[in-house]
Amino acid sequence: MIILLGAPGAGKGTVAALLTGANGWRHVSTGDMLREAVKAGSPVGLQAKAYMEKGELVPDDVILGLVRERLAADGDVRYLFDGFPRTRAQAEGLDRLLAAFGARVDGVFLLEVPREVLIDRLAGRRVCRQCGAVFHVRNMPTRVEGVCDRCGGPTYQRPDDNEATVANRLDVYQRQTEELIGFYRARGLLHVVDAAGAVEATRDQIAAHLPAAM
Ligand code: AMP
Repeated sequence: MIILLGAPGAGKGTVAALLTGANGWRHVSTGDMLREAVKAGSPVGLQAKAYMEKGELVPDDVILGLVRERLAADGDVRYLFDGFPRTRAQAEGLDRLLAAFGARVDGVFLLEVPREVLIDRLAGRRVCRQCGAVFHVRNMPTRVEGVCDRCGGPTYQRPDDNEATVANRLDVYQRQTEELIGFYRARGLLHVVDAAGAVEATRDQIAAHLPAAM
């Protein structure tokens, strides 16, 4: 089980999409799971919506409940977690969940990107409403404007990618998630990755350290 750690806009989802598929790794984004729940109008979605709109974190017990359900349904932990865990309580909860499945955290990759690059990436980000593929108006445009290259669905700008919410999300990251860097470094699990460049370069740095046996 691998964790991709880094601020919003660091490219966790984009690089995860490159790393999954062929080798059996699955990309699990709690943000995507929550957006689906909001779209479906499920009880979790109704609870999460207001937090997401403000760029605040959804309560830990809601997130851990979602992850527990997902693990129970899949029974497979070859996950690349993107956007989870985001707090110390989630990291500790994840350890407990994995222990119940006879698994553990194998590696944590910290994607480092300067703040001005993060802001530019988030402001230009476009996401497919249908399949979740991620694009950027300048760095990774779709072939046809507004149409997903992968599935042909419509692309849109996430409502929380507006300037005010982006600033809050970056602050929330610094306040609540950055402490996980020390948490995982102390356990010898942390790999620091320069993620300011092309996504392929980020992928190669991660791929070099992925546990070979998995
Ligand atoms: P993301 O797609 O990872 O940027 O997540 C979008 C939003 O979903 C965040 O701003 C939070 O409101 C919420 N969210 C996603 N993952 C988590 C998590 N692990 N813990 C708390 N909130 C989360």
